[in-house]
Order: sequence, then structure tokens, then C-alpha cells
Amino acid sequence: MTFSPNYVNSYAHFGIHETMLKDSVRTHTFRTAILDNPHLFRDKVVLDVGCGTGILSCFAARAGAARVYAVDCSHIVDQTRLIVRKNGLQDVITVIESRVEHLQLPEAVDIIVSEWMGYFLLDEFMLPSVLHARDNWLKPGGLMFPNKASVWLCGCDDAELRAEKLDFWHDVCGVDMSCMKSFSISEPAIEIVPDNHVTTTIHNVLSLDLQTCTTADLRFISPFQLRALRPNKLQAVLGYFCVSFTHGREPLQLNTGPMCDPTHWKQTIFFLDDTIPMDNNELLTGVIAVQQNKNNERDLDIALEYKFNGNMAIRCNLLRYRLR
Ligand code: SAH
Repeated sequence: MTFSPNYVNSYAHFGIHETMLKDSVRTHTFRTAILDNPHLFRDKVVLDVGCGTGILSCFAARAGAARVYAVDCSHIVDQTRLIVRKNGLQDVITVIESRVEHLQLPEAVDIIVSEWMGYFLLDEFMLPSVLHARDNWLKPGGLMFPNKASVWLCGCDDAELRAEKLDFWHDVCGVDMSCMKSFSISEPAIEIVPDNHVTTTIHNVLSLDLQTCTTADLRFISPFQLRALRPNKLQAVLGYFCVSFTHGREPLQLNTGPMCDPTHWKQTIFFLDDTIPMDNNELLTGVIAVQQNKNNERDLDIALEYKFNGNMAIRCNLLRYRLR
């Protein structure tokens, strides 16, 4: 996979790290997963894939790791080295500026920690780099932190959001830009949806065991079925992800769904062309297909096909989205 300079440069700037570190659900979940399990980390060799500012490496060192290799391809590592020194962890943590695919280490590792998730789990496509590191550097029986990931869909009725995102184009200070509406529909919106706008059951469309999955598993086609929990006007299908840490004493989950505390990943909203009035218990069935974009390897192509068989005649629709 080639790397666009824009991608690498974006992580050299402090702003993106500030956003991630201030996402307390994210950062605290990783901290608990590592610091609450010193029995797993004590005297172990750890690889932090995409260390950024080195926060996960510092947690691993404080949990008792013997050595931590902190690797990042971005120039942020100049700061990471200073952070490691400032915290007196330079004898444990070695900071390496490299793409993990080009990494040379003197030894194999017991544990890989990595925060690689993008919008809708797979956006940015960093997971293949983590799997490459696992296949090359993790000892047999070594542990992945996190070790499970899943993607979920549900239906959502949020008329205000639809008005703000789509109907807005009908009249922009008196200028009709309604052609922009279908254009903007093709890019999923990244917004926080309050849980009272979720109107259907949820459906799992991808489950990955990060100890064993392969890059081929990241291209998937999954059927889904969303049952209305009350009468509603369905505006969109909403996607979100969870990752789990189940090696420790207490299993831990980082859940980015609307029913949980918000994170910087928010939720991913796939607006439907038209609103669908659903009665209680009616079903929206469909298929979602997800793959890496062929021209820009950091982007995701997502197709949603759905059928609604309620009071109306069957409607069948194929919608295509691109997450950038
Ligand atoms: N671990 C840090 C940063 C996570 S963001 C934290 O939790 O705060 C992901 C980081 O991975 C970015 O800094 C990015 O530069 C780095 N990265 C992405 N792909 C990489 C690759 N193939 N090799 C090395 N670093 C990579």
C-alpha cells in the first residue's frame, strides 16, 4: 500500500493528537485495558503500532513491560521522544520513526497495542498495517490489544439532522443548490446521533478476531435486518463500531454506538434517498458491501441495498457511498 504524504503529515500536527487524547472514552478505555492488567504486561516486550504521542507505550511501560517499541511513520516521533524522556521512561521505551511495514526489530514481541480505528471502524485503512506487524513480529500465543472488533447498523429517525445536512441545499441564502443534495448524500455524515433517534433493532455486520483475521476479511458483504421498535420516519441507516479487550481480568469494550458516551468517531450516517414511514415491528432488510477504494487506499466504498416491505409496495434501492 502506498502512503499519501497528506496522511503522514496530518499526524505530524498536534491537533489530531489533541483530539484523540481528549477523547476520554477512547484514552481511558486503553489505559484501563493496559494498567489494570500488569500481570499480562510485567517483563513483557510490547510493540505500539502507530504510537503517535506515545500514550499507549507509556501505559505499557507503567504496567511493567520490560521493553516497548513505539513506532510511527509521522514526524510526531520527535515529540514522542521528548515525552518519553520527560516521564523518565527512556530506558524502557524505544521510539522508532518508520512505517511499521519497514520495521526492523531485534526481537519478536509478546504484545501488540494499537489504536488503529477510523470512522466506521475501517476508514483510513490502518488495520492492514497492524495485521502485517502481527504476522511479522508477534510471538506465537502473543496478545493483541484490542483483540476483537465489530461493526453494527441500526435505523435512525432524525428529521433535524436531515434538514441540516440535506434540505439545507434547497435554499442557501436564496440560491437553489438542491443538486448538491444527492451529491452530499453519497458521503456519509459523521455526527453524534442522540440515542432517542434510534428507532430499530441493531444488527451486527462484521466481527473480527484480531488475533487471527486477515486483510481479506476487511472486504465484506453482509445482509442485515432492522426491525422498527416504534412507528417512525426512517431517515438513515446509522453505522458504528466496537472494539474489545478480552485478555484481561475484566473484559472491556470501547463502544462508539449512540447508546454510549460519545467519542470523536461519533456515528456514521448513511442517509436514504427518501424517508420511509415504518410501523412498529416492520422490517427494513438489506445488504451492505464494504471495500477499500481502488484509487485512494485510505477511503472506503460502501454500498447499501435495502428493501422495505411495509404498508407500501416493496421498495428496493441501491445506494453508494464513499467515506473519505
Ligand atoms: N497511539 C496513538 C496514536 C493513534 S493515531 C494514540 O493512541 O493516541 C494512529 C497513528 O498511527 C498515527 O500517528 C499515524 O501516523 C500512525 N500510523 C498509521 N499507519 C502507520 C504505519 N503503517 N506505520 C507506522 N505508523 C502508522
